[in-house]
Amino acid sequence: MSAWQVFEVQILPTSPLQLGDESTVGSFQSTGDRIPGAVLRGAVAEHLMAHCSQPEYVTDHHRCPDRADCPFWQVFGGEREPLFGFAYPGRRGPAYPFPLTARTCKLYAGYEANDGRVHHGVYDLLLDRFFYELVTDPRFPAREALLPELGRDWPRLQRVPEERCPLCGGPLARPVGTYAVGADGVPGDAGTLPVRRVVHVGINRARGVAEDGLLFVQEIIEPAREGFAFYARVAVPQTEVDLLRPYLDGARYVVGRGRSRGLGAVEVAIRREGASSPDLQTRLADFQRAARAVRRFYAEQDPRIGLDTAGTLFSLTLRSPAIFERYGRPLLVPTPAMLGLPPEVRLVRAWARPETVGGWNAAAGLPRRTRLAARAGGVYLFWVPPSVDRSALMDCLNRLEVEGIGRERARGYGQVTVCAPFHVHNRLGATERSQR
Ligand SMILES: [Zn+2]
Ligand SMILES: [Zn+2]
Repeated sequence: MSAWQVFEVQILPTSPLQLGDESTVGSFQSTGDRIPGAVLRGAVAEHLMAHCSQPEYVTDHHRCPDRADCPFWQVFGGEREPLFGFAYPGRRGPAYPFPLTARTCKLYAGYEANDGRVHHGVYDLLLDRFFYELVTDPRFPAREALLPELGRDWPRLQRVPEERCPLCGGPLARPVGTYAVGADGVPGDAGTLPVRRVVHVGINRARGVAEDGLLFVQEIIEPAREGFAFYARVAVPQTEVDLLRPYLDGARYVVGRGRSRGLGAVEVAIRREGASSPDLQTRLADFQRAARAVRRFYAEQDPRIGLDTAGTLFSLTLRSPAIFERYGRPLLVPTPAMLGLPPEVRLVRAWARPETVGGWNAAAGLPRRTRLAARAGGVYLFWVPPSVDRSALMDCLNRLEVEGIGRERARGYGQVTVCAPFHVHNRLGATERSQR
């Protein structure tokens, strides 16, 4: 039995929300479009402390004298802490930030959404771009192992794939926001988070009257009105599942800013338990099949190129930002060794962008240092030679998906999806694709 139980937790807003970064205070007033893992973790921790038999220690729970019976210390004091993921908004089930490899029509952006507007679909270019570079660049990393037929030779091609909208031929752009995954496992429209702008008048505290020039604008999310909820993956050590379950299923919390104005009330519910579907084995097989389909495009043009790639390709797609450090320096791209992968595994392509994270430790009421992270949606593509033991590889991929990668995983950083169906279902070069 795995040491962890994985939950897909729904966070349903019951009042408008104002989300920020990890802080609950701050001077900027625009709202975020995700709930960082630290926010749900903080809300759960607060409620656990409230159930301690020693409530007078709530503000300084390090001094709780009853650690053996204290629910807070049972959950957070052990060798393994629960891993609270970042929550993303969607209207029809678990939502994910778009991968950096996602593209959509620049003119008619987005998935088909039944909203009376024209959408030309969302596409993914991970496998198409990878094979294009592998075939056309004799110096591509690991080319001699991945494409021994050509070695260091140039291919003979009559045509190359186009990165244009398949419906209108127009240019592509990066989609913004999130996509949803329905019960059938197929990616589709997650909706657009409704944001309302509110203008406030600043009050001069000394005189108690409205102050000229102190108008400020706040952005408020009104998710409940449009049937929106936020979705996060939470991994809980098996030993703490019974204790933590009531805090993840049916509990009510207040998150984000504006508590005094009645903002931020949410209700949490467990939407799914156990591994995500389709299971890892199926996703890995689908990914190899898609890779074969992309390769066919080149094999049909240059008879030297075979259909099969020796070994196994797999991708890790960041569902949340990831923090990697080596020798005290931040990295955007982890090495296979940092992830505990077998030494033969090679990173062959990465799509990564920087983001600054951190800022405020709500529990301690202290600033937390900001750090450089790889932005959510980053994609890393690895190649596993045939010599690597299959079951050892599967154990490894399972661990990465459940426990995440990089630092600060208890606060939700580094959550990954192995061979995300998005890269297969929405592949730009595919003839069959989902248009939902
Ligand atoms: Zn206690
Ligand atoms: Zn188009």
